[in-house]
Amino acid sequence: DRLRESKVYMRALFDYIPLEDKATPCQEAGLPFKRGDILQVVTQDDPTWWQAKRMGDSNLRAGLIPSKQFQESSWHLTQDLLFSLPFFLCISGLAVAGLRRSFRLSRKDRQGSSGEGSDPGDPDFLTYEEVTRYQQRSNERPRLVVLIGSLGARINELKQRVIAENPHRYAVAVPHTTRPKKPHEKEGVEYHFVTKQQFDADALNNKFIEHGEYKENQYGTSIEAIRSVQAKNKMCIVDVQPEALKRLRTAEFKPYVIFVKPRVPESRRRRSAATSPGGEKMTYRQEMRQSAIQIDQQYGHLVDRVLIKEDSASACAELRGILERLERESFWVPVSWVR
Ligand code: 5GP
Repeated sequence: DRLRESKVYMRALFDYIPLEDKATPCQEAGLPFKRGDILQVVTQDDPTWWQAKRMGDSNLRAGLIPSKQFQESSWHLTQDLLFSLPFFLCISGLAVAGLRRSFRLSRKDRQGSSGEGSDPGDPDFLTYEEVTRYQQRSNERPRLVVLIGSLGARINELKQRVIAENPHRYAVAVPHTTRPKKPHEKEGVEYHFVTKQQFDADALNNKFIEHGEYKENQYGTSIEAIRSVQAKNKMCIVDVQPEALKRLRTAEFKPYVIFVKPRVPESRRRRSAATSPGGEKMTYRQEMRQSAIQIDQQYGHLVDRVLIKEDSASACAELRGILERLERESFWVPVSWVR
């Protein structure tokens, strides 16, 4: 039996609570897990229920988990979610597309054990991602480190600080800008200074991982800028809007994604319901919490590590520790990145 042990590992992209699953053949046999857990799939013999162990569990017994196919067929946008849409729109000016997405991710409704009446094959329905251990070898380019942050995280400052401490090992990708060069600046150091025409052409040709406008000038970070850091065998650290994650998740970059969340202190006095989401104007702390929740719902499944930021110094020390481990230890990555 040992010899036949499966080498298939899946990262769970959703939470699973067997006791709440009406479709399971046996709730006691179910294996509970959370999004981000690594599951060793022992058998996939049954098309509907797999047997799996959860990595890191001392309990070696395998339990039942819904198969990928079954789970895909089970995601379902329920009526109550549609009802809650206006409520969420009130509290934040979020894109409707984003909302639709996070709703789908956060709720499910099983339509009987065969999954009929659901939305099969929708790639947005998150189930599992097959993963494998990966350790960067010395002859390979360093992995890309991607920082995303919720409101108040100040990830750019964090990035600059860690790089300044160790400029031989870490570097930023030099962005492009259309603004005029200042006297103390050097081409290719602070920025690549380009004309508006050049910038627009590059944007059109998808050369940027992200770009935006600031005081009527264009700014953007190119894929080439990341490559040129990695070509010097340095670890490239970028801080981006989470929307850029999809573009960066490639075998070439093997991004390690760190979500920086500022710790939001509890208000001393509990606010009444009137000031909570949906009510009057939110306090900054509420906005910070809301921003973190939103990113977590929409992009949490793409995050390798959450860094709770207490203050700049401790966050910086923690980030440094993570980067050092990234060069020494092995990590789970999608199998498609190494095959
Ligand atoms: P400055 O012109 O003072 O060097 O930069 C002004 C602002 O431009 C920065 O605070 C930042 O908000 C924005 N900026 C700088 N680099 C980038 C970039 O690569 N992408 C985007 N979207 N904005 C940038």
